[in-house]
Amino acid sequence: MAPRSQRRRHKKPSSPVAPMAETPPKVMTPPKTVNPVSLTLSKPGPSIDALGFFSLEKNVPGLSQLILQKLNMKSYDDYKLVIDGGIPISGFGFRCPQEMFQRLEDTFRFCAQCRALPSGLSGSKVLRCCTRCRNVYYCGPECQRSDWPVHKRVCQELHLVAVDHLVEWLLVTGDFVLPSGPWPWPTKVIQGWDTWFSMRALQLDASLDAVLGSQAMSTLWASVRQPRPASDVLQGSLKRLLTDALSRPLTLGLGLQALGIDVGKTGGSTVHVVGASHVETFLPRPGDYDELTYMFPGHLGLRVIMVGVDVATGFSQSTSTSSLKPGTIQLSSHRGLYHDFWEEQVETGQIAHPDLVVGFHPGFHSSPDLMEAWLPTLLLLRDYKIPTLLTVYSHQELTASLQILVDLGTHITAYGANPFKSLKPEQVYSNPNKQPVYCNAYYIMFLGSFHPLEQRQLEEEVDGKV
Ligand SMILES: [Zn+2]
Ligand SMILES: [Zn+2]
Repeated sequence: MAPRSQRRRHKKPSSPVAPMAETPPKVMTPPKTVNPVSLTLSKPGPSIDALGFFSLEKNVPGLSQLILQKLNMKSYDDYKLVIDGGIPISGFGFRCPQEMFQRLEDTFRFCAQCRALPSGLSGSKVLRCCTRCRNVYYCGPECQRSDWPVHKRVCQELHLVAVDHLVEWLLVTGDFVLPSGPWPWPTKVIQGWDTWFSMRALQLDASLDAVLGSQAMSTLWASVRQPRPASDVLQGSLKRLLTDALSRPLTLGLGLQALGIDVGKTGGSTVHVVGASHVETFLPRPGDYDELTYMFPGHLGLRVIMVGVDVATGFSQSTSTSSLKPGTIQLSSHRGLYHDFWEEQVETGQIAHPDLVVGFHPGFHSSPDLMEAWLPTLLLLRDYKIPTLLTVYSHQELTASLQILVDLGTHITAYGANPFKSLKPEQVYSNPNKQPVYCNAYYIMFLGSFHPLEQRQLEEEVDGKV
């Protein structure tokens, strides 16, 4: 669950003095960006991502109600129903989920300085965006002026956010296809994006040039009625989007490597992605995970099972334990809380025991409620000594999460900056002037528990015998 990477606005007025333009019809927000407010528990208990949804209220009072109202919905549950469906739902007045996402995006606007919502503006006032970044809004020049000292620190980075957000649409439509194929270099040479890009350089240059020269790219900028950025800017964006799409599989690969998982297991090895959500399952491009096969050319099959209360319903539910063919990757999902999944599926042998568990942005450091929801899973992973890798968005989150894991007595085996973090900046939606964050920026790996007392006893025993 990743209720932090929120931002979304790509349709902007063409100038700061123009009233807000009608949303251009051709470009829609990729569904995955809506994830931050799309999650909740499917059973009674603390509602993990409804918390995220309503936490918007803290920063912008009235916003969550406004969103529901604009979407013709009575409650968060209605919203969740549409999200879960992933197919046209009649009754809400939207032809398809994309249309809803678009409307949703339009509603995510408020003055970055005084927090006024469109409904709170007097007379003919409208919210206008900063023309440099097109990513924050103001109710008038006074607010924009007083906010500038704060906003100028992030304006340039937020401009990249806006460009990426538009170009990302080409990934959704399939006009930008990620490079694929065996790695020409040995895996141990590929230590991070620098070496990865060098290795793929030839292939990548050709495919990026093709996208830059494509009709789809021209149509994109024409339909949002914005000047097309320079080629190097667009190429930078395509590269960032590529790192964003491959960050999850490659980070998972990093975990397999660093935790010494045997991928040469007959019948295949198993990875559970815990706390998986729409981000992992709504827009599945199974091809992204092919990169793992190129990372581990000799593997005998990899089973990746996404487990979470918010995995998309359209994602493959088949989680068979049958043997995999060497070199194949099987992606599937299971809807539910991980500790329930463990009891009902893993302990009963219906689903393969994990060789590795990965959690992308669990976020348990952010609130006591989330911690409460995650605690049974963390204890389970610790007590069953499951090799585990977690990721966080920032250094601050790294410190807070490490502290919690140390307090829980887990044995931290490694942590640090992730060489395969996403390079695509993410705006923290409810706090638009906050420094953008990056997915999977840092990782933490742990294995079992660390008992200083036991360790000391062991050392004493050993000393006694010598
Ligand atoms: Zn204002
Ligand atoms: Zn700006």
